[in-house]
Amino acid sequence: MLKIKNITKRYGRHEVVSELNLTIPIGSIFGLLGPNGAGKTTLIRIITGLLEPDSGSISLLGGKPRDLKVRQQLGYLPQEAALYPGLTVKENLQFFGRCYGINGAALETRLAELLTLTELTEQKNQLVEELSGGTARRVLLASALVHRPRFLILDEPTSGVDPLLRRKFWKWLRALSLEGASVLVTTHHLAEAEACEQILFLRHGKALDVGEPKALMKRYHAPDLEAAFLAATLEGSP
Ligand code: ADP
Repeated sequence: MLKIKNITKRYGRHEVVSELNLTIPIGSIFGLLGPNGAGKTTLIRIITGLLEPDSGSISLLGGKPRDLKVRQQLGYLPQEAALYPGLTVKENLQFFGRCYGINGAALETRLAELLTLTELTEQKNQLVEELSGGTARRVLLASALVHRPRFLILDEPTSGVDPLLRRKFWKWLRALSLEGASVLVTTHHLAEAEACEQILFLRHGKALDVGEPKALMKRYHAPDLEAAFLAATLEGSP
């Protein structure tokens, strides 16, 4: 689904992604865990085709990130709200659907499914500017799913979201992955990382380690992921 081989990206002389390798199989939920400045956003920009790496190769959904066919199968949930505040929940979703060429009865059916999934049916006629942060986050998730993406990228999806909603988010993500979509979550929150099937520890643009959360904790004899991350960092230091 996604295969990144040896990519490097520099800004001037500053190497922000260094010889990174990453493989995400079909139907998996993969976490990119790293502190601020680790290179997560840069990596997302490369995967979504907004940035070209200086070297290395990337194959996504059988093509290259900039191929139209590939972009049409990508879903992206940004950290910052990207909704139209003066439109209702449903109007926002209709807008995103039409951007992907979904219209008429097909669009209505998809919207009904998404409103049910994200439990937004009751709020569908409310203006986005009147919604709470958590509800707006759900609309954003629904908007990222409107075209049934096969590869979904979520930037800190549940940061600032209450625990109940976080749990529901993960339930929805698992449902998507069971349908065969792959999910890439970037986060510096341990709770988010723990819910992923596989995680990559990223620091200063370098992959420190990759594996299942439990396996990583075991490998470093660590009680939690934070301790495992620290141990991996120390092991990687000269
Ligand atoms: P993260 O998302 O993990 O916080 P980023 O990918 O945003 O990390 O940033 C990685 C590093 O690249 C940081 O040191 C940041 O200052 C630097 N950086 C990001 N974007 C640019 C840019 N456009 N020009 C120069 N440096 C940048």
